[in-house]
Amino acid sequence: MCGVHMSKDTDVHKKRIIDETLTKLYEENSGKPEHAFWFFLIGYFITNIIVTTSAHTSTMIEMGGHSIPVYTFAGVFSSVANICVIFLAVYFGKRGFLTGLVLLIVQLPLILSSVIFKGNLSSLPGFFGNILAIIAIVAVYLNNVKVDKFQQKLRYTAVTDLLTGIPNGFACDELINALMKKNDRFANVCIDLNGFKDINDTMGFEAGNQVLIEIASRLKEICDSGTTGTLDFISRTSGDEFALLIRQFSTEEDIIKTLSKYDEAISKKLTIFDCDFFISAAFGYTIYPDDGTTVDSIVSHANTAMNEVKRVNSSNHFLRFTGDLLSTEKTLETEAKIIAAIENDTIFFMLQPQFDLSHKLRGFEALARMKDKDGNIISPGEFIPVAEKVGLIDQVDGIVYRKAGKFIGDIIRQTGADISLSINVSVRHLLKNDFLTEIDNLLMNSGIPPAQLEIEITESIMIESINKAMNRINAIHDMGIMIAIDDFGTGYSSLSYLNEFPANLLKIDKSFIDKLNTNDKSKQYVAGIINLGHTMGFDVISEGVEEDAQIETLREIGCDLIQGFIWGKPLLPEDAGKLITS
Ligand code: C2E
Ligand code: CA
Ligand code: CA
Repeated sequence: MCGVHMSKDTDVHKKRIIDETLTKLYEENSGKPEHAFWFFLIGYFITNIIVTTSAHTSTMIEMGGHSIPVYTFAGVFSSVANICVIFLAVYFGKRGFLTGLVLLIVQLPLILSSVIFKGNLSSLPGFFGNILAIIAIVAVYLNNVKVDKFQQKLRYTAVTDLLTGIPNGFACDELINALMKKNDRFANVCIDLNGFKDINDTMGFEAGNQVLIEIASRLKEICDSGTTGTLDFISRTSGDEFALLIRQFSTEEDIIKTLSKYDEAISKKLTIFDCDFFISAAFGYTIYPDDGTTVDSIVSHANTAMNEVKRVNSSNHFLRFTGDLLSTEKTLETEAKIIAAIENDTIFFMLQPQFDLSHKLRGFEALARMKDKDGNIISPGEFIPVAEKVGLIDQVDGIVYRKAGKFIGDIIRQTGADISLSINVSVRHLLKNDFLTEIDNLLMNSGIPPAQLEIEITESIMIESINKAMNRINAIHDMGIMIAIDDFGTGYSSLSYLNEFPANLLKIDKSFIDKLNTNDKSKQYVAGIINLGHTMGFDVISEGVEEDAQIETLREIGCDLIQGFIWGKPLLPEDAGKLITS
């Protein structure tokens, strides 16, 4: 059995944490203002003075035609005095209770002497009233003690990790909040054990728990020992994840020194159920306020850095968060979603119609869509660039080609409609060895005549890879397939390349259409592109047309075709089908 040594000062440590993080918060929320104490105390004295004076007054007051002696009101004021004392006991803990008790007890002999020596029998009910008030505040006090103990226990469990006995994530968040409020500089470190899942899987949960208890105890020992030179706070946030808050450091080197101590402690041999383990951990950290100014960002950014340490799997276990880790993380996340979508067949397509200026349907552009496992639709603007970067684009394109090709091919066969299908290709995909075979198969399987298929290639290809791509593009043209130059205007393609490009269509990017009617220069610019396209022998289509006024201008300057939300958003296949048959 392993030697789990929870040290004796555990309770002291726990208490310190509770004191540091939650007690103050608790008191702030539950404490009654000091002036209320004095209000009840002074209230008590004033009402007692009224009791004494009214008890000795024989004056009568008239109420509703009846004469009532003033002294009969003494009982009412006596009750008010007792209520003041009871409030003290209810709201001001031991201090309120003792104050109340002393007041009531001191009053007893005074009342008694008035009864015995002055024969003032009317004070006798007041005496019993006092006794009852004493019983009431004792009962209140005893009950408060019980409730307090219970609350303390609740507070303790709220901030403690039950398995390891060290503070939990809630305590850590509270401390982070408190430090942020005071604008204190601190480092938040996310520590995750490596290979912990394997221990759980092969040795069972009990062994896993023992590992966590032992590691937590080692971390806590260093935290409490003060040997790191910084002020530390360790907590277990979940499973095999710990959070360390470091204060009172002057340079980042101090942080690294502190981390090394914890790293060392974790990597020492661990013996659980007679088996030896060597465990390591990944440390990602953020510094407040440099790397985030909210609890969320400080915690999640440290987590991002920690994940990067795991991913890179180098001998350096520490990494501070930097902004570019976010894009790496996002890329990995999106890549995983694309792979899952390919496996689960949740990549699909929509069809955006293209029209000539008499509003006659020319055809459709197939646009890729993807659903993640929760059914959320992810935009191609997000997943296409990632698919390109990680080499999944040919698979994504392939799915869109196959599905959209079959759909449009079937319609052409059934209705004889003279419509085209435009598909997008990424440069990386276009340059793959088997691209032409893939397109051949697409034509064969879909039955779309080559003259009704169009491949959209972005203008950027002319800048990046024109030499490698030119043969490929000519081969596509030779197959009788149409070629469109997509996003025209966003790159800086030279006229000589454009002249050689065997395209049919030039697609003016939406950004130029957006500006079209804002000033005459923009209009002349688009007119220039249209003329250029016509000179080269291309048709010209404007993308992203959203307003009637844009259509008017485009008509005026001789644009051939329109693709935009004004006449058609991307449609589901069945809606595109209805548009064709209507
Ligand atoms: P793109 O090829 O320039 O496609 C046109 C984009 O503009 C589409 O966005 C379309 O929905 C949007 N659009 C069209 N008209 C309007 C309009 O009037 N207003 C506005 N606001 N937007 C309009 P989407 O579908 O998000 O596609 C974004 C980009 O993703 C595409 O730009 C294309 O570069 C890429 N993409 C989409 N599907 C595929 C695919 O199957 N394969 C590859 N390789 N890339 C694809
Ligand atoms: Ca396109
Ligand atoms: Ca475009």
